[in-house]
Amino acid sequence: MNDVNERREIWFLTGSQSLYGEETLRQVAEQSTAIVGLLNDAGDIGVEIVSKPVLTGAEQIRRACIDASADDRCIGVVAWMHTFSPAKAWISGLDVLRKPLLHLHTQANLSLPWAEIDMDFMNLNQAAHGDREFGYIETRLAIRRKTVVGHASDPAVRGRIATWARAAAGWEAAQHLRLARFGDNMRDVAVTEGDKVEAQLRFGVSVNTYGVNDLVASVDGASEAAVDELVAAYERDYTVSSELRVGGSRHDSLRDAARIEVGLRSFLTSGGFTAFTTNFEDLGGLRQLPGIAVQRLMSDGYGFGGEGDWKTSVLLRILKVMGRGQPGGVSFMEDYTYHFGPGQPKTLGAHMLEVCPSIAAAVPTCEIHPLGIGNRQDPVRLVFDAAPGPGFVVGLLDLGDRFRLVANEITVVPPDEPLPRLPVARAVWTPEPSLTTAAECWLTAGGPHHTVLSTAVSREALEDLATIAGVELVVIDASTTPALFARELRWNLAFYRLAQGLAR
Ligand code: MN
Repeated sequence: MNDVNERREIWFLTGSQSLYGEETLRQVAEQSTAIVGLLNDAGDIGVEIVSKPVLTGAEQIRRACIDASADDRCIGVVAWMHTFSPAKAWISGLDVLRKPLLHLHTQANLSLPWAEIDMDFMNLNQAAHGDREFGYIETRLAIRRKTVVGHASDPAVRGRIATWARAAAGWEAAQHLRLARFGDNMRDVAVTEGDKVEAQLRFGVSVNTYGVNDLVASVDGASEAAVDELVAAYERDYTVSSELRVGGSRHDSLRDAARIEVGLRSFLTSGGFTAFTTNFEDLGGLRQLPGIAVQRLMSDGYGFGGEGDWKTSVLLRILKVMGRGQPGGVSFMEDYTYHFGPGQPKTLGAHMLEVCPSIAAAVPTCEIHPLGIGNRQDPVRLVFDAAPGPGFVVGLLDLGDRFRLVANEITVVPPDEPLPRLPVARAVWTPEPSLTTAAECWLTAGGPHHTVLSTAVSREALEDLATIAGVELVVIDASTTPALFARELRWNLAFYRLAQGLAR
């Protein structure tokens, strides 16, 4: 797995000024360090917050922002205006800052020392208005940021910072994301197309096509020893059907599937790729449509999109990074078919083969079945039901003048009945606020049929990512009505067209 930045950190920048004298600045520095200590010591943010010297002047601030922007370890900046930091000093710095920004509106003391408070205390602890000065200049400069209010000892405050840090890590991964497309877009399909140049400018992602026979060469180069090792891993990790096992009548197909995984993994690793797409219309010399290989690569954190869908693959990779270490899973998904009733209406999501086992409810079975499309030998795949729980599906579309994210809060539920004849992994879910309203709004927004399903990433993290990226996000949730949603889309149309010339 090509993880480019394992040594991530977040810089903590504290603003003040020299008006109150050296003694005050010394206390500011102490309190700043103490707050960073509170944030780090609980161990719940997941990324180290690094304390930086207190900033008191425009040139120093500009230099700190340039350094943060240039440092590959720094994935984001937390800013706190301890005393009253005149915000004109931040203009040139914020103008050059290229890292995600979180404005932490806090103070050193949890409680007011009612009996002892005097003007010295007031002058030292005045972030309540110092941060307002900073908020003004952020808004005046149209700086996208997350604002978090509260004391650093409050787990809810640290939780919101941790959520933003996940989005910042996803964003950082996007900046280095190299995606390999094996073949181009599925013929005549519109929503999976898009502007790859704009995507590189907007998200940092590099999307390029490789001839599928380059992949075939890598597959053909797989050693028998590597295939043996992988077949053993399959038998260890999954319930492999008897016909596929060593000595089984179709064991050669399992070996072919393993060979595809070895070759695909080797191609991605050697090229520094963290995401890829396939296209069943362009399989060249591959003996099977890649099934279990794609499923396992997703499980290891790779982005994937079927039918050349590079946008969903990019989104999946970003959400994989954001959800790392969290309970739940993240998978490529497609709205396939509906259950309108009886009982609560539901969506059945699946794909031809490629659903990530990170969302599986139980140990997947490894099976082989015919597949009508692709015109190759029967593909090996992992089959399972998705684990129940709350989550969302999210899709990324290209509107021509901008990208839009559409998300729908869902609850993954067990299937009403077993699905003994369905030979693919699947997820059954109830969308908020209802299937009919969710689907109506999704279609109104132009949302794609391919999505990323996540039960590991929070909605707030998704919102933070959209803010960092400056990309429109519309969320269909329990409070959504079609009329208000349609109005939001119309307002957004005007806003985003205007904002292209005004805001960043
Ligand atoms: Mn598809």
